[in-house]
Amino acid sequence: MKLPVDNVYFKCLQKCALCCSNTNGFVFIRSSEAEEIAEYLGMDKEFFVNHFTRAIDDRRILVDGQDDDCLFLEDYGCSIYEVRPAQCRAYPFWPENLKSIERWEQTKTECPGIGRGQRYTSFEINEILKSQK
Ligand code: SF4
Ligand code: SF4
Repeated sequence: MKLPVDNVYFKCLQKCALCCSNTNGFVFIRSSEAEEIAEYLGMDKEFFVNHFTRAIDDRRILVDGQDDDCLFLEDYGCSIYEVRPAQCRAYPFWPENLKSIERWEQTKTECPGIGRGQRYTSFEINEILKSQK
């Protein structure tokens, strides 16, 4: 798929966590990710799934934290950063942010990591998009 966004720079600053605050959205989580996070937190997968996720249609999402922040957001950033879900890893390269140059420009105001670090071609961004499916 030809994307309107190509050759852009991005490096996550981690601690800013703007994408994890007041999200009002869903963080989808796969079964394999639930297993990985549960292991990282030293708990049983079933316990993690029952207490930290909920069903929405035929998928599961992380339960909400306080003030619409993600449950795993701490002052220092994501407390499960090393094992965060694919959806989180892929940000800011989410389909809705890549629809147009204008939308990408808007995303820049929401993510201070854009414009820094590694260069991403549209091919590489497409690969990241595939990882979310
Ligand atoms: S808003 Fe951007 S820079 Fe900040 S934590 Fe999220 S992805 Fe990283
Ligand atoms: S899991 Fe981590 S990276 Fe993902 S929304 Fe929650 S705090 Fe942010």
